[in-house]
Amino acid sequence: MTAGRRHDAPTQVRFDLGGPSSGARFASLGSGSRGNGTLVQMNGQLVLVDCGFTLKDTRARLARLGIEPGQLDALLVTHEHSDHARGIPALARHCGAPTYLSYGTARALCDWDGFELRPFDSHSSFEIGGVNVTPVSVPHDAREPTQFVFDANLACGPRRIGVLTDLGHVTRHVVDCYRGCHGLLMESNHDLDMLWKGRYPASLKSRIAGTQGHLANAQALEFLETVRHEHLQHVLVGHISEENNCPRLIGELYEDVSATLGNLELVTQAHGSDWVEIT
Ligand SMILES: [Zn+2]
Ligand SMILES: [Zn+2]
Repeated sequence: MTAGRRHDAPTQVRFDLGGPSSGARFASLGSGSRGNGTLVQMNGQLVLVDCGFTLKDTRARLARLGIEPGQLDALLVTHEHSDHARGIPALARHCGAPTYLSYGTARALCDWDGFELRPFDSHSSFEIGGVNVTPVSVPHDAREPTQFVFDANLACGPRRIGVLTDLGHVTRHVVDCYRGCHGLLMESNHDLDMLWKGRYPASLKSRIAGTQGHLANAQALEFLETVRHEHLQHVLVGHISEENNCPRLIGELYEDVSATLGNLELVTQAHGSDWVEIT
């Protein structure tokens, strides 16, 4: 299904990406309930997973990482919630890149005119410029939510980057799909005690903590301990609740696992992360 016509990409001076020609890299534009976006660059392809920011904000966040919108080869959407999809239409019209999303997510989006949608079967991998993209079905309260695993055969060998946010619990399918990652951005949304003692209404607390909501710190840690391996170089921990979580708590909880991991850092809503190079 192609909805609307694809706008020509504006003529822009391309930045020197400065990225590794033989490796891969990824970065967060910002992560949390007020907006998400993750850049993944592999095999010369630059894709953005989700955009929950205004076009002006997105441009500023991309510029911080040395990127202009016209350099994006593809946009991918995990699900229709506004912190992931609200910025997609304006950005897609602006940059001209196609937007990949599940059929269910495409149906849930209202504002799809004027840019190219490329819906995918959420049970099948597809390719973007030599990068194999595996959609991963996750339990979350959206129409057909998927997260993504990216694989490419690079000069340094096969490399895998995973992006995993917005899931209520970890399924065996999720664990199987995220094994073997060299780079990983994963959700550690809330501390369960803080959530239950906090000021959110009971219905929202139940939604967040439910099986279709978000991962609590303890669930996220258990997931990481399950999928970690000796070649996992860097983990970004994101979608951290500003209301129901605390960086100090996460730091304490992850202390043991981070001591034996290459790198583990927390991603903020305001600043995201710097580029993470995968070698
Ligand atoms: Zn979200
Ligand atoms: Zn969501």
